[in-house]
Amino acid sequence: AENLKKRKIAVLGSRSVGKSSLVIQFSENRFVSEYYPTIEATFTKSVKYKGTEFDCEVIDTAGQDEFSILNSKHAIGIHGYVLVYSVTSKASFDMIQIVYDKIIGFCGVTDIPCVVVGSKVDLESSRQVTPQEGQKLAQELNAAWVETSAKTNLNVGKVFEHCLAEIEKRAPNTGEP
Ligand code: GDP
Repeated sequence: AENLKKRKIAVLGSRSVGKSSLVIQFSENRFVSEYYPTIEATFTKSVKYKGTEFDCEVIDTAGQDEFSILNSKHAIGIHGYVLVYSVTSKASFDMIQIVYDKIIGFCGVTDIPCVVVGSKVDLESSRQVTPQEGQKLAQELNAAWVETSAKTNLNVGKVFEHCLAEIEKRAPNTGEP
């Protein structure tokens, strides 16, 4: 279609926070309870946002920790970022700032289009990170924020709408195909 715009989105965060589950729920509308964590894969799906059809290429990464070095694949040509923590893991929440700083450093910029995602909200009884903490961090990073469950398919589409919004907010007239 003439209006099809391509947007590359990278999904980053600690291991086992549910990155693959989120991406698979988004692209294939199903929840997989078993998935091999080391596989890095790219999924595509077109999303209509504000009347424009976006061809989203979503890169699901293996996961980062404080020692991992950002791969150029996760920085060059990427339009927007989805930074995932699990609401059941304070450690994964703390990793968001670390990963964010790595991206900023790698890209040599001061601001990136991104959405901070608190995953696994269906596990409310195991919650370690409050919505307020999530929102506050997102505000500090000039990012959007949303809580999701890949299991119950709560707010999964919202994640990518927020990401597209953050991308478009910064570059509304890039005219990129
Ligand atoms: P990744 O390493 O970040 O890609 O995490 P995975 O997507 O492989 O998920 C890690 C584990 O968390 C798996 O056992 C998933 O089934 C589980 N998981 C992922 N998303 C959810 C969720 O929304 N709710 C629940 N209850 N479990 C989830």
